[in-house]
Amino acid sequence: MGTPTYADLAAARNLLTDLLPPTPSWHYPVLDAAVGAEVWIKHENAQPVGAFKVRGGLTLLASFDDEQRANGVVAASTGNHAQSIAYAAAHFGAPCTIVMPENANPIKAAAVRALGARLVLEGERFDDCRLVAARIGEETGAYYVDSGDEPALIAGVGTATIELLERAPDIAALFVPVGSGTGAAGAALAAAELAPNCRVIGVQSAQAPAAHDSWRGGELVDRPNRTIIEGVSTAKPFALPQRIMRELLHDFLLVDDADIRAAQRMLLTSAHTMAEGAGAAALAGLWSVREQYAGRRVAVICSGGNASEAELADVLRA
Ligand SMILES: *Cc1c(COP(=O)(O)O)cnc(C)c1O
Repeated sequence: MGTPTYADLAAARNLLTDLLPPTPSWHYPVLDAAVGAEVWIKHENAQPVGAFKVRGGLTLLASFDDEQRANGVVAASTGNHAQSIAYAAAHFGAPCTIVMPENANPIKAAAVRALGARLVLEGERFDDCRLVAARIGEETGAYYVDSGDEPALIAGVGTATIELLERAPDIAALFVPVGSGTGAAGAALAAAELAPNCRVIGVQSAQAPAAHDSWRGGELVDRPNRTIIEGVSTAKPFALPQRIMRELLHDFLLVDDADIRAAQRMLLTSAHTMAEGAGAAALAGLWSVREQYAGRRVAVICSGGNASEAELADVLRA
């Protein structure tokens, strides 16, 4: 498996200009005052499917030839990876199968069906669905799109950081949420090229620390997955993003699920922004170390906004 380089991100960036307008990057006076720093938010919650992953899906499908497109794609996901691949497949006219757990969130299942994908509800948890999706790929010839070990996804999602750094240079630190690690790996590749003095800092839930513990320890380890934050809910680390993060990530923080809920609330009340839990994790990470960045310019990737009604009710009760 090839490791993506900055040249792959630059190529993805060119390709995506025709497919997705740049998302906004702003900072907000009330949030700046609360944190005590100038906090730029990269608004990936403003993507057509509500999350940054669509950059990766489009980049991957754009690289397919006609035969590969005709064979189609298959992916496993509890949410945003599914919508990214289904959206890209619809755009390029490729058949798409998505595997979700039997108890999948009905709103996310409906979103995938609305994008025209075939939905297979099989498996108890995400890790079971991955096996089902890989099997369907072998049986049908469809390309199995892994949610982490896929270079095109890393190159694609890294373009969010290119856009951000063009708008907001001289950032002291960029905070990125981590599940499989594609987002953080892409951000680190972009920053290493465009803003080598910017610290890139991963943030994961302390209730599902597989990527964090693997990064710190230098070997891939599984960990219990007890987080309620869907987009960063993984029990296993992914080899390719781990390799890139090991080389280029400057630090990696753990935050509690309750701190993530508090950060979601802060985005709602101080930045006019509806984030899902994973989309607020980066701000929770910044909040935990805010004294270190007092008075400086920093940035957080608001990776997604697909919060269910129940989740929003939880945020407002917190
Ligand atoms: C997938 C996802 C993440 C985590 O990204 P990885 O590339 O898997 O580390 C964070 N936020 C949202 C909204 C996501 O959908």
